[in-house]
Amino acid sequence: LFGKERANSDGVEFGNRDALEALLGEITQGARQSYKAEPLIDGKSAPGEARPVISPIDGATVAGEVLEASADVADRAIAAARAGFAPWSDTDAKTRAAALERAADLLEAERGAFLHLLQIEAGKTLDDAMSEVREAVDFCRYYAAQGQKLFGADEPMPGPTGESNALRMRGRGVFVAISPWNFPLAIFLGQVSAALMAGNAVVAKPAEQTPLIAALAVRLLHEAGVPTSALHFVPGDGRIGAQLVENKHVAGVVFTGSTEVARIINRTLAAKNGPIVPLIAETGGINAMIVDATALPEQVADDVVTSAFRSAGQRCSALRLLCVQDDVADRMIEMISGNARELKLGDPREISTHVGPVIDGEAKDRLDAHVRTMKSGAKVHYAGDAPATGTYVAPHIFELESPKALKEEVFGPILHVVRYKSGQLDDVLEAIDATGYGLTLGVHSRIDATVNHIVDRLAVGNVYVNRNMIGAVVGVQPFGGHGLSGTGPKAGGPHYLLRFATEQTVTINT
Ligand code: GLU
Repeated sequence: LFGKERANSDGVEFGNRDALEALLGEITQGARQSYKAEPLIDGKSAPGEARPVISPIDGATVAGEVLEASADVADRAIAAARAGFAPWSDTDAKTRAAALERAADLLEAERGAFLHLLQIEAGKTLDDAMSEVREAVDFCRYYAAQGQKLFGADEPMPGPTGESNALRMRGRGVFVAISPWNFPLAIFLGQVSAALMAGNAVVAKPAEQTPLIAALAVRLLHEAGVPTSALHFVPGDGRIGAQLVENKHVAGVVFTGSTEVARIINRTLAAKNGPIVPLIAETGGINAMIVDATALPEQVADDVVTSAFRSAGQRCSALRLLCVQDDVADRMIEMISGNARELKLGDPREISTHVGPVIDGEAKDRLDAHVRTMKSGAKVHYAGDAPATGTYVAPHIFELESPKALKEEVFGPILHVVRYKSGQLDDVLEAIDATGYGLTLGVHSRIDATVNHIVDRLAVGNVYVNRNMIGAVVGVQPFGGHGLSGTGPKAGGPHYLLRFATEQTVTINT
């Protein structure tokens, strides 16, 4: 179960006893340290309101302490970033890239602490935590390489004799980075490293549930050579995010989270008098997979379970709506339910665990309420049991009458299935399109014409054919969607850094 993903990302550690023992030793070391996230302005601690960070594993263990920033501290962070912008922007791209490369090296060398926090603070299984460290390292290295191409030298442009033209890329100014709890290291570092590589000064606000790992990542970037004047840190809740976005000196915002919050940020930016400030938003999706009668049942069963339940379904990319051709639906659903039954739910620090907790009590309450609604209206194909303590939600599989019955993104391990009759595929595609989201799409079919038709019909950011639909790899599957799913550009893709920059044309009459 989840085998292909595990083998791809973590083959060495999981396949070799000595390597696995060494890895667990590093995590144990990480667990011996104590962790604190405090506001950092110019590398110096700023005051904040203290709160313990409680682990979702049991709802009791204290993972560390956070000092949440006040509005005044948020404003001070922006002011400090304004002062730090010019020297960082003037630093050549090679030096900026070297700092990111060094951060990636340090992250690999000190992964024990990060893996520990991914487990204790974010409730990640070991293979999810391993993949996340890998992805964070990849983001730093990829943006370092891309950044040198884009920002390393001015691009000569053609022109008449006697005139030289060149295009140069530069940072915009102060970028605010607001990151999510579901990838508290990879997306946090992805956003921050991209903004820095493009020459911006950054004020980073992590998700309120996962400040500790973000604080550790900030310290690592400073240690790697990012000046403390170029990167500032303000842990806090949504009010601090709002305070940052409202500040008139902000030149850009990068955000990953809900569509609703992206809209609020967009409105706030639009309402300000002053420059037009770009928003880079990556949001959610009602992601569908379409399975026709020619699909390979065993592969579908594996890919569906991985896509819907890995990471407890807490990925933007996760499968929410499985659309199966009627002729094969009973057999497919039986096999998928059989695989779901094999999943081990529980403490993510156990190596054999497949599904850990959801992030907090609020998420659990929302998901439990959805399960109760589904149990009273939909057909139940599978309902797992969850441990009593901690914030666990067991995998569930419900069958709906129509794809239209799923009205919003359900961010957890809950799969909804609908059947479609041969000849009614276009109705299903229309219903998926009508959701307005466009993040990921899975297709399982052996008929090229069907695959091409589906891919052409749906404006979706990431399409996966005859495989699972999560775990986009940096530089291989640039990630991000359209419509309600985000603004683009794609994270981990060749155009990402451009949106963090301004372009300047210099024409010289020679
Ligand atoms: N990039 C991740 C994936 O492909 C999802 C990111 C997210 O959940 O925001 O699974």
